[in-house]
Amino acid sequence: MTRIAIVGVAGRMGRQLVAAVHQDPDATLAAGLVKPDSSLVGVDIGELAGQGRLGVAAVATLEEAIDSFDVLIDFTTPQVTLANLAVCAEHGKRIVIGTTGLDHEQLAELDAYRDRVPMVFAPNMSVGVNLSLKLLETAARALGDEGYDIEVIEAHHRHKVDAPSGTALKMGEVVAESLGRTLKEHGVFAREGQCGPRTDKEIGFATVRAGDIVGEHTVMFATEGERIEITHKASSRMTFAKGAVRAARWVADRDAGRYDMQDVLGFTDSR
Ligand code: NAD
Repeated sequence: MTRIAIVGVAGRMGRQLVAAVHQDPDATLAAGLVKPDSSLVGVDIGELAGQGRLGVAAVATLEEAIDSFDVLIDFTTPQVTLANLAVCAEHGKRIVIGTTGLDHEQLAELDAYRDRVPMVFAPNMSVGVNLSLKLLETAARALGDEGYDIEVIEAHHRHKVDAPSGTALKMGEVVAESLGRTLKEHGVFAREGQCGPRTDKEIGFATVRAGDIVGEHTVMFATEGERIEITHKASSRMTFAKGAVRAARWVADRDAGRYDMQDVLGFTDSR
């Protein structure tokens, strides 16, 4: 039985994570954190998540819960996640990180823990998205250097703070890597005004932010005469939460290392 603690239990993902852990017969809900200054400290986290009373009161700091859990699941902000990662390293804990929007420096800071902490870090924990990444590798290899233009289009709810989404960037990276390109050199993240025609090798990104869209991603391979689109649409955040709990169970008996959902789902060997 994997004992799981969740950070940000009052958040959109946090509430789903509480429900997903509660519904998983192989996981136990050990602790839930809210912001230190939150009025929700002490409130039952099951009630926060609409699951009824679960007998676990929300706490304000990770240290308070440190002896109760094996794996921490963190879907918050880059700064909060990095602080929690440091505490996990200090206390020999494992971590599943869903937080997106880490900049270059923050990614390097996270990566520096790979020799000390068993961690799963993935911008999208859904099984369908991770399967789509495999399909994209195949499509890119077959089409990318044959005159097909590649564009990544994503849509999310109005509250999302980073753009393009971590998933869109990951999809772009997978395509770029399969073709020996890099997003640094070939990614085009904005087009406005007289920007000229597209170049052959660029990988374009377009972002929609509207209403309550949970998350939609399309990678388009277009040439004269045809267009192939690989699309994933999430209709509920539960898909990410279930993936995160699966990752937590998986990482519970792994050695230190930085893993992703491709590893959790067993796709890595065939890479
Ligand atoms: P949200 O704003 O609804 O939730 C974040 C929660 O973290 C809030 O409740 C906030 O109070 C809490 N929080 C902030 N600081 C804290 C602290 N110091 N201690 C404890 N709690 C703290 O956001 P969200 O929509 O749930 O998304 C959170 C993150 O997860 C974003 O980066 C988002 O992009 C990412 N996300 C990832 C996936 C994935 O599959 N990897 C899926 C969905 C969202």
